[in-house]
Amino acid sequence: MNLTLDSPVQYVPRVGPAMAKRLEKLEIRTVSDLLYHVPFRYDDFSVIKSINQVKPGEVVTIEGEITAMKLTITKNGKKLITATITDSAGSLPVTWFNQTFLTRIIPKGSTVRLAGTIQWFGHSIVLNSPQYEIINQIGSSTTPSLHTGRLVPVYPETLGVSSKWLRTRIAYVLDTLLPQINDSLPDSFRNKYNLVPLKKSLSAIHFPADLSESERARHRLSFDELLYYQLRSLYQRRTWQNEMHAHVLKIPKEGIQTFISSLPFELTGDQKRSVQEILHDVETTIPMNRLLEGDVGSGKTVVAAIAMYCAHQNGYTSVLMAPTQILAEQHYNTISSLLHPLGINCTLITAASTHTNNQKGDILIGTHALLYQNITTTHLGLVVIDEQHRFGVEQRTRLVAQTNKNRIPHILTMTATPIPRTIARILFGNMDISLLQTMPMGRQKIQTWLVPKEKRENAYTWIVKKLKETGGQAFIVCPFIEESETLATVRSVKVEYERLKTIFPQFRVGLLHGRLKAKEKTDALDRFRTGNDTILVATPVVEVGIDVPNASIILIEAAERFGLAQLHQLRGRVGRGSIASYCLLFTELTDEATTNRLKTLETTHNGPDLANKDLELRGPGDLFGTKQHGIPTLKIASYTNRDIIEETKQALAYMVDIDPQLDTFPILREKVKQSTIQSSAND
Ligand code: ADP
Ligand code: MG
Repeated sequence: MNLTLDSPVQYVPRVGPAMAKRLEKLEIRTVSDLLYHVPFRYDDFSVIKSINQVKPGEVVTIEGEITAMKLTITKNGKKLITATITDSAGSLPVTWFNQTFLTRIIPKGSTVRLAGTIQWFGHSIVLNSPQYEIINQIGSSTTPSLHTGRLVPVYPETLGVSSKWLRTRIAYVLDTLLPQINDSLPDSFRNKYNLVPLKKSLSAIHFPADLSESERARHRLSFDELLYYQLRSLYQRRTWQNEMHAHVLKIPKEGIQTFISSLPFELTGDQKRSVQEILHDVETTIPMNRLLEGDVGSGKTVVAAIAMYCAHQNGYTSVLMAPTQILAEQHYNTISSLLHPLGINCTLITAASTHTNNQKGDILIGTHALLYQNITTTHLGLVVIDEQHRFGVEQRTRLVAQTNKNRIPHILTMTATPIPRTIARILFGNMDISLLQTMPMGRQKIQTWLVPKEKRENAYTWIVKKLKETGGQAFIVCPFIEESETLATVRSVKVEYERLKTIFPQFRVGLLHGRLKAKEKTDALDRFRTGNDTILVATPVVEVGIDVPNASIILIEAAERFGLAQLHQLRGRVGRGSIASYCLLFTELTDEATTNRLKTLETTHNGPDLANKDLELRGPGDLFGTKQHGIPTLKIASYTNRDIIEETKQALAYMVDIDPQLDTFPILREKVKQSTIQSSAND
């Protein structure tokens, strides 16, 4: 079989199935993945010196012969190799711990290159644990070097996959495949943006002559990566707009006015604007694909309800999909109470409902899973997706598959995740975004404290006092359900629940976690909502959207496990009513980085700022939850790399301007096409 970039990595010589399995941990599945596994730094072993010139503290490469090699066991049982390397100028002792195989690999008499740091050992100097490389003869030009005598790439590693091993396999792939690689960007375009040719950059990112060469290589590869994702969004948007059609909705202006004036509050400016944007979208045959983004409590539900009302008035069914049963019920209650005065009924879809015969104009509310099973999509005019991690990609694709291609529903996705501008620009270019930035009047700031370990008991006492004083209620959030052995410091919710009952004997304490039956969940939440239970111990299921105005304190255990934006969403569970509200963050960690990160929440109360901070500190995974957030991990570029993001944005605009069909970018065009097909197939 001929090795190509698309071949599974196991077919690279000396990889095989066992190594391939390990490589999966590094997200390396194909030969191309291996080639794009780029170093995060380089060891500078480029200085080759003769032994009489080396000084302690220096990082050097030495070429010579192994003239002595002995394995000894030290007093405390460690296996120590002591060797000597000799060149024309002298000899130098070398030591390695535990690498006993070296007596076989570079026995006495071998010609080698050793690279590492010269260290003091007692009164003499020694080369300790150097990298080694066997060479044919002295004189660096005669053998190409991978591990010594140059800038040596250091890669993200995993158990059983060392940088040294990666170097040899990547060098092999570069040797055999580089000639076949075609540049995805034509010369003129590359020149305009000052980009190194692709072949050159792939070899230079791994084995650069100097740091500036590696920088230029990294720039080119980052550019490719960022350009690709933006192009993909743009392409998806075009396909969506050109090939899909939606039902045109007439805007019932008077009805909407009546609805809005019947509300117990005045809409905020942002809510009004978002409603306008949505209504403008659904008036055309181009299917709406809009993201309604606003902090917890910013009032997204009522905006969605207006859109659903509009679909109803046009005789189309709308559905609202919530991520959990609890939230589906909450939405059902809220939206019913909004629409009931107008004589419109909503239906809650439960596991038991069979709604395959839904009527025109129905308003259906349920979890994603239930809605797929239980509705017909014939008169489906609008789909609202609440807090869906993958931002509706999956739902959209499925709906498109289910519905008559000629008429697909308008889609509104709601999220409380503040999406940093840079990410939105790269990944959500295929969606329109409406922002709810101003909060409804009267929302209070939630006083937040990071509570030091030793103040835990005081905090409990304070909570008792506060709850008694104000008649408020408290959430206690614990990350896990079962006691976890590996994370001994994390307080499991069940154990914690029993313990908390003894700490708060004066209050009724409820328990809510993901593994309860649906009915038990609803009951637990109802007992809390009605004030029967004063404290609710919960896993982070409370994160998304639970609305209990009397809740005024939230205590979060193992806070370090959450991203800042996520903690911000959690604390948004309190402060919805009139009682002054507090968020207490507990962590068992005391290191400065954790403390500083969590303390940000004491002073910053703005979701987008926290999201940006998350992005800088921990990458996008934290922002969108760990699983299935649908946010690709960038391999080379970074979401915080504003300059290249800006540059690629302009390059994309230029590209589609001079060549809208991408005829001069056939490789990119094909790749984008394939990825769109693939993402539909996977969903
Ligand atoms: P979220 O955006 O988190 O989903 P909700 O839609 O649940 O927020 O709204 C939170 C609360 O704010 C609800 O009780 C809702 O009735 C109320 N609300 C929404 N809009 C306004 C407004 N303009 N003025 C006052 N209260 C509002
Ligand atoms: Mg909500």
